Amino acid sequence: MLDAASANPTVKGLYIGGQWTPAARTFEDLNPSDNSVYARIPDCTVADTRRAIEAAHAAFPAWAGLPFHKRANALLKIADAWEANQDRFVAAAMHEGGGWLGKGKFEAGYVSEVFRSAAALCYQSTGEVLPSEHGKFMTATRWPLGVVSVISPWNMPGILTSRGFAAALAAGNTVVLKPSEDTPYAGGLYFAEILEEAGIPAGVFNVITCSRESVGEVGDEMIENPLVKAVSFTGSTAVGRHIAAKAGAHLKKACVELGGKDSMIVLADADLDHAARAANFGSFMHQGQVCMSTEKLLVQDSVYDDFMSRFLPRAAKLKTGHTNDPNNVIGPLVNTRQAQRVKALIDDAVARGAKVELGGKAWDNFVEPTVLTHVDSSMDIWHDETFGPVVIVCPFRDEDEAVALNNDTEYGLTAAVWTQDEARALRLAGRLETGIVHVNCQNINDEPHVPFGGVKASGYGRFGGNWGIAEFTELRWITLDRGGRHFPPVF
Ligand code: NAD
Repeated sequence: MLDAASANPTVKGLYIGGQWTPAARTFEDLNPSDNSVYARIPDCTVADTRRAIEAAHAAFPAWAGLPFHKRANALLKIADAWEANQDRFVAAAMHEGGGWLGKGKFEAGYVSEVFRSAAALCYQSTGEVLPSEHGKFMTATRWPLGVVSVISPWNMPGILTSRGFAAALAAGNTVVLKPSEDTPYAGGLYFAEILEEAGIPAGVFNVITCSRESVGEVGDEMIENPLVKAVSFTGSTAVGRHIAAKAGAHLKKACVELGGKDSMIVLADADLDHAARAANFGSFMHQGQVCMSTEKLLVQDSVYDDFMSRFLPRAAKLKTGHTNDPNNVIGPLVNTRQAQRVKALIDDAVARGAKVELGGKAWDNFVEPTVLTHVDSSMDIWHDETFGPVVIVCPFRDEDEAVALNNDTEYGLTAAVWTQDEARALRLAGRLETGIVHVNCQNINDEPHVPFGGVKASGYGRFGGNWGIAEFTELRWITLDRGGRHFPPVF
């Protein structure tokens, strides 16, 4: 709950089996705008993690056995409780997450729709009736798995946490959520308050929080515990690889949504004004800390100067500073480690010959919107996801070169293509190695009912719509024999 006089929340403890339980230790959760202490957060142990998993396991049969309209109604109640408390989430996203007011409002509005669309999924778990060589009545139907471990990131703590578990709950699973140590309240304990208010039965949804120091052993338990049947992970490729490998070793399902190094391709016949506005949003929204951020702007050489003359002045208008001031559209990077990493990537590129067209200044946890040109593949910034307010602009001659530059990355989350020729755009989209392509829009797009996910090192599995249900259910073949199956007489 938010104290009336301040933006700091009252943290009630871990949320296990419908009870708030204090942990033996806590860790500091900082406001990245000034590194002040935002909250003290429970730093759970492996024993706490086991208790949460056992509570979720105990709650599973009753939740899975509910008539599906009751699960749908429960999800609608979550949406209502979320909506009624939106201002509290916005405050947390600003002060804990370092986000601009507009970003917090957008996120808050989106999350209720994630739950409403999950409620609709409860009515759509369709199976198939299959033909049989032996006259059997045969079905292929989806069944809930049991306990799903959900591990979420900090950059969109509302959307990416809710997206990680809403379909799992709709399908009849129960959940143990561990949010990021950078947004343990907005992405975790706040959800526990909302689901408690919505009257979700005890144990169906549990939240544990831990520090970066404890996450190795807590994370391992969330995957290896035999009661856990699947993992829903959104985060970096490095951690995602570890999680997917561990889940694979235990033959458990995993949906892993990871990093990106996404390009926007601007062809010569594009609406350049519109493309420049979109590029500004795609590159700098939430300081570039979005998995789908536009990290590479690929512009056809014949319109390169024209595009830059529209793009740079727009980007120059974005103000950087403390999120207390809503005029600061560019807030801090989420922590000092991340701010230093982004600065180091810029410095390395400049030392190797990149040119700073805009920005480049950094102080405390802030980095100004920065536009770099003359970047080549010898520089780390060409390959590494910056996850900061930095975009590379690179000219190309023709479609073949644009495709090659787009695909020159281990990642494959989204791409954007700008042209007035839709047939050309669709042809090009087929050659781009990404899970998602947007024509005449920037890269950052999501809707609750679409198959969201990447290819290559951007992960596997899809959140959204019935694809989300498929991730968090088992497909089973069940047959009914009607005397048509004959055996050799020797038996
Ligand atoms: P991260 O991988 O550092 O952390 C993600 C989560 O994993 C956090 O909850 C963290 O505590 C947890 N974690 C860390 N080590 C762990 C371990 N050993 N075992 C279990 N859990 C562990 O990522 P982040 O910095 O929070 O998020 C930024 C990254 O996430 C970026 O790479 C971004 O592109 C990616 N991301 C991807 C998507 C997508 O949908 N594809 C969306 C948002 C963010």
